Amino acid sequence: MSVRVTELAEVGVTVLSRWIFNCYLVHDGGDGRALIVDPGLPSTTAAAIAMIEAAGGPKPVVVATHGHVDHVGGLPDLHAFGAQVCLPRRIRDYLAGETPRGPGLPEIAKVRSILREQPWDFGSVFEIARTGRHTGVGGGTARFPNGADHWLAHGDEVPGAPAWQVIQVPGHTDDSLALWNPTTGVLLSGDAVLSRKGRAWFTPEVCDPESAALTEEQLRMLPVGHLLPGHGQPVVGNGLMDRALSPQQRP
Ligand SMILES: [Zn+2]
Repeated sequence: MSVRVTELAEVGVTVLSRWIFNCYLVHDGGDGRALIVDPGLPSTTAAAIAMIEAAGGPKPVVVATHGHVDHVGGLPDLHAFGAQVCLPRRIRDYLAGETPRGPGLPEIAKVRSILREQPWDFGSVFEIARTGRHTGVGGGTARFPNGADHWLAHGDEVPGAPAWQVIQVPGHTDDSLALWNPTTGVLLSGDAVLSRKGRAWFTPEVCDPESAALTEEQLRMLPVGHLLPGHGQPVVGNGLMDRALSPQQRP
């Protein structure tokens, strides 16, 4: 099955997806360079690289919203391409010996309805299994052999993509970040907010419910017009955060 391409021309973003895995290509991060967010699969990453090369622009900036293997599988290819790679600063602590926390199986089971919303694609899962052996956070360890060019923290502007602000959104994991563009009202939420049946859904798949509740409170205050989630389809419309489901609700 090939990569699904969805253009959100009104905000200058292309969504590259396979099954439930989304990679976002922001054509101009605010400084003439493209920004790739969550290069989870080698195949969606290759599609993003091909679009950047076709446009003839400079090397892109890359951000992973967190270290889970299904968000970072394309990183080795992006390092090789000469992209500037930015990762959450907490991953540096993992590489220094901190044990990463993540949601357990009962939490993962709470989001299984998302899995049914888009057609199953065996190849995408195979890619994650293959790349996850050498790249990403999983099984209580972190593997990022090439490190990062920049480590991102709350309040940072993304280096090379100044239109985007970093928001710390712990709960799903401790390293989770979201990217917010206050000019266009676009929120790249990673796994902090998912979507289901056209509504935003604060994820019940968390390792820390208290910090997830604070994350929800913080994100609900943003005037989001486009929610681009880590899993599920984009949600568009003013007031979409007012209609967003809480983790306790089941879409
Ligand atoms: Zn995740």
